[in-house]
Amino acid sequence: MKTCISCGMPMTKPSDYPSGDDSKDYCIYCARPDGSMQPYPEKLEGTTEFLIRTQGLDRQAARQMAIRTLSKLPAWKDKEPIKE
Ligand SMILES: [Zn+2]
Repeated sequence: MKTCISCGMPMTKPSDYPSGDDSKDYCIYCARPDGSMQPYPEKLEGTTEFLIRTQGLDRQAARQMAIRTLSKLPAWKDKEPIKE
């Protein structure tokens, strides 16, 4: 079983992969409609929105948490932290 390099989600079934392609290292939620992986700013924004929606955080707190969360993942761990 693989986990998504971009968000850490376990990918257990073909429908977790973009276009059902299990050779990919990222999940369907981290893919753009064309099947390529979302770039960092887009993923950061999506994660921020997700945290606001699911955790009830304000935008700034959600963004900080999103930056910390993404910095632990293989796709982004070598990324320079974004300064606010
Ligand atoms: Zn993902």
